[in-house]
Amino acid sequence: MLRAISPIDGRLLGEFVVSTSDTIHRQMLAARTAADNWARVPTESRVKILAKLLPLLLSELDNLCDIIVQTTGKVRTEALLGEIYPILDLATYYEKHATSILRTQDIATSPFAFPGATAKIERRPYGVVAVISPWNYPFQLSLAPLLTALYAGNAVILKPSELSLPIGQLIVDLCRRLELPPNLVQWLVGDGSVGQKLIDAGPDLVFFTGGLNSGRAVMQRAAQHPIPVMLELGGKDPMLVFADAQLTRARDAALYGAFSNSGQACVSIERLYVQNDCFDQFLPMLLDGLKQLQVGHGSRGDLGAMTSQKQFDIVQAHYDDAIAQGAQASGPLQRNGNYVNPLVLWNVHHGMRVMREETFGPLLPLMRFSDETEAVSLANNSELGLNASIWSSDIAKAERIAAQLQTGNWVINDVLKNIGHAGLPFGGVKKSGFGRYHGAEGLRNFTYPVSGLTSRSSLAKEPNWFPYSDTSYKQFKGFIDFVYGGGSLFQRIKRNWPALEAFKEYSAFDLTQRWQNLKILLSWKRDY
Ligand code: NDP
Repeated sequence: MLRAISPIDGRLLGEFVVSTSDTIHRQMLAARTAADNWARVPTESRVKILAKLLPLLLSELDNLCDIIVQTTGKVRTEALLGEIYPILDLATYYEKHATSILRTQDIATSPFAFPGATAKIERRPYGVVAVISPWNYPFQLSLAPLLTALYAGNAVILKPSELSLPIGQLIVDLCRRLELPPNLVQWLVGDGSVGQKLIDAGPDLVFFTGGLNSGRAVMQRAAQHPIPVMLELGGKDPMLVFADAQLTRARDAALYGAFSNSGQACVSIERLYVQNDCFDQFLPMLLDGLKQLQVGHGSRGDLGAMTSQKQFDIVQAHYDDAIAQGAQASGPLQRNGNYVNPLVLWNVHHGMRVMREETFGPLLPLMRFSDETEAVSLANNSELGLNASIWSSDIAKAERIAAQLQTGNWVINDVLKNIGHAGLPFGGVKKSGFGRYHGAEGLRNFTYPVSGLTSRSSLAKEPNWFPYSDTSYKQFKGFIDFVYGGGSLFQRIKRNWPALEAFKEYSAFDLTQRWQNLKILLSWKRDY
């Protein structure tokens, strides 16, 4: 049994039976049958069925927020905006676009190499997708990949964090109310070892969101089969504030970006760099803003509880290391139950853990920079590359900076919000992971492409088939010079005429297929 305890007040929220290897294998078999059936449902019909989620969520907002708040300790507005709103947006986006994103695509075909032929790419679902999700946004970070996998035609087995079991239960209950086919969505109860057993049960794709070390273990396990993986890992996201930015707005954004969800967000602002020319003005503004923040539960709190003791220990270690190396802090790191006061740190450097490793808690370290070159160099001086925020009233300059950052995503003159844009593929570079979800690319990533070519040749034999000879070699050489060589079309025809004559039967030159070939030729000119 695993017990779910609320980080708010230590209340017992439920007890859950841990999944065994036997149950996981039985679930995998059932999921495979469900996946086969679901893959045969046309995308339009899948979209109609899944469209029922939106009104269901809207009718349950308060209840959903209650369960999320109790399980995670986050404040109510955070639950609404950080956990539920992105799902509403993603569901709406895929309801509108999934059919066209997944549609079979005609591909232009060279009339010289494949005369009369057509080609296409179909998208097919993987089958069973294992979604392994973390505790910080357990609703959003489980449901977003789960829903995407379903739109793409897969079955899902969800392994939520052992710290988020009531959310796993909630998601499966919501799916049941959509009247999805039996076993299309199932879940497992357990810790990381259950996640490993899930991978050993042989899903067709693993979508993992979590820390770097667990991501490595997931990839290592998946490699034994091998199973493709997408890894959404952590961040150490920089925010660059130039002197020409709107400083008050940048100050409020920095506080929000660093401390929303008590800093337990993969896209939290974890490194704040402020240009020399405004640093001495910006730091007191930041400290003033910090004083206004409220830690607490219910309608008065901006920052809720931290979810786990383990994470608080990391925050404490980063704080202690920074202070030991000469950092100054806005105050001591204080904790009341699981409620932790947010802190700003300065006089920091990249030798400190708080500037190198993901803190995932309410600490905001800030440093100076002199110019664009130094800003880019400091921002890129990290093993992680998830999101980045750039602040300047000169948008061209901000976009120039963004283009030089080693990051999977960036946002100018705002923070965090870009992860909530359902049309933008989201994911990391460097040790922040690989693979993307959200947007068209994110949906296609839950499918694999199958490409096909249909010949419409009326010839008994294609010219490239056996037998080979010196003559056929010369003819093909002439053909290659005609297609790819230099000079005008007339010159290429003239110098290769004897070789081209050998191909006159080839259907590109067959007058009976003239119209079909003209169409192919035009599309090839356009797309190939
Ligand atoms: P963990 O890596 O500890 O856990 C993530 C999930 O993986 C949990 O369900 C966990 O189970 C499971 N797990 C742990 N070890 C293994 C394993 N060896 N094999 C299979 N599954 C395993 O991350 P946290 O839950 O602590 O989440 C915080 C991390 O997630 C942060 O680093 C954060 O940056 C990252 N994150 C990344 C996001 C992104 O989009 N890039 C978004 C949000 C968070 P259990 O918890 O039960 O042990």
